[in-house]
Amino acid sequence: MGMDSMRFASTNRLAPEVTLAEALLQGQAPDRGLYLPVTVPSFTREDFAALRNGSYPEVASIVLRKFTLGTFPDDDLDAMCQRAYDFDVPLEQVDTRRYIMRLDRGPTASFKDFAGRMMGQMFGKLRENASNRLVILTATSGDTGSAVAQAFYRIPNIEVAVLFPPAEVSDRQRKQMTTLGENITPIAVEGKFDDCQALVKQAFADDTLRGIQLTSANSINIGRLMPQIVYYVYAAVRIAPENDPVIISIPSGNFGNMMGALLAMRMGVPIEKIVIATNTNDEVPKFFETGVYQKIVPSRHCLSNAMNVGHPSNFARVLALYGGWMDETGTIRQMPDMTHMKSELWATGVNDDDTRLTIQSAWQKNRLLLEPHGATGWLGLQRYLDENPSSSTAVCIETAHPAKFPEEIEKLLGFTPEAPPSLAKVEQKKENYRTMPADYNAFRELILETYGS
Ligand SMILES: *Cc1c(COP(=O)(O)O)cnc(C)c1O
Repeated sequence: MGMDSMRFASTNRLAPEVTLAEALLQGQAPDRGLYLPVTVPSFTREDFAALRNGSYPEVASIVLRKFTLGTFPDDDLDAMCQRAYDFDVPLEQVDTRRYIMRLDRGPTASFKDFAGRMMGQMFGKLRENASNRLVILTATSGDTGSAVAQAFYRIPNIEVAVLFPPAEVSDRQRKQMTTLGENITPIAVEGKFDDCQALVKQAFADDTLRGIQLTSANSINIGRLMPQIVYYVYAAVRIAPENDPVIISIPSGNFGNMMGALLAMRMGVPIEKIVIATNTNDEVPKFFETGVYQKIVPSRHCLSNAMNVGHPSNFARVLALYGGWMDETGTIRQMPDMTHMKSELWATGVNDDDTRLTIQSAWQKNRLLLEPHGATGWLGLQRYLDENPSSSTAVCIETAHPAKFPEEIEKLLGFTPEAPPSLAKVEQKKENYRTMPADYNAFRELILETYGS
């Protein structure tokens, strides 16, 4: 381990600092906090010159190198970025100053592929010469499980078991997990998502499974955040080549995506404002307004369903970057510097009616095709610009492909968006999965039988 290699500390301040490899494999810190780099690295002038001319995988390598120094050799990292990012990242100009960046061309057509694909590469590299298998257990209500399955497919020395509630996932989501085979074991649990989650939790706590190396690849892993810095850097250097400040608008739920933009800003990318658009799970916009944080329990069901989060776990990281402290229960133990925070971030909540109107108006005015998550971000940007006139260039993030919402788009616009090849491909493939009752003993047996030596 080189002297320069990065250290990571927990937001709960009680766990010892760790290396990148440790933070990746642990996920959550032992004090139940979330890992953040102790010091955020910065870009140099030479970096900016290289970033401006780089392809997406090249930009990814320049950005990620700042964090992986001492963990992955640069040549390995270059190859990992090439393998992870073998799909398009369209940056479309909508009018003179507004762009949309589509992060929907990965294997599961959502931005979660960007982190998933890189995590697959990083875990694979860390486990390259391991003598045993690492087993990733994950419970899903649809999107996360399919992204994890696609990301870790065929990664050596890694096995993935995905538990899903068959009644709650769409046909397409199920097929993205069940048509892979090899190291991916999809398990239909006769129950709800909560049952799947409970089974996974119980397995992690089960001492009799100690002989099998189990881990989770959940949304709070630091490995999710670093790849999500890359596309903000990529967009900024392209839409503002003179290093002028840009405005970025992000549809947000668990606040992992916006954390990428915030870290990009701290690394020296000129960002004028980060606009955070939530749906009516608007606990964060309310906090900005009132200084009082109140979780929304249970979370509200909205059209932008991947953002139905009443208490975003990454918000603890956001507060930490402004000197605050939120513990694992969601209690703020130390207030952040609100003035500093509001000078960089701006938040708004968008309801379903306004989301639908935005899908229609974006299409009518600009021939811009949006799905519910991206529409939330697009309206958030509009609201910000209405209140804060600015001559800066702005980019809004589209986080999913419109073809994932065929009924809604058909209702609003009168046509069905064409599925991208990644989604269409799974339709013809053969499915293979096991079915199991929501019973821990059955699950334990299955783990032992599948992964025990
Ligand atoms: C997960 C997800 C989001 C929310 O991202 P966070 O990082 O949780 O804020 C937005 N849109 C889509 C399509 C998603 O899948």
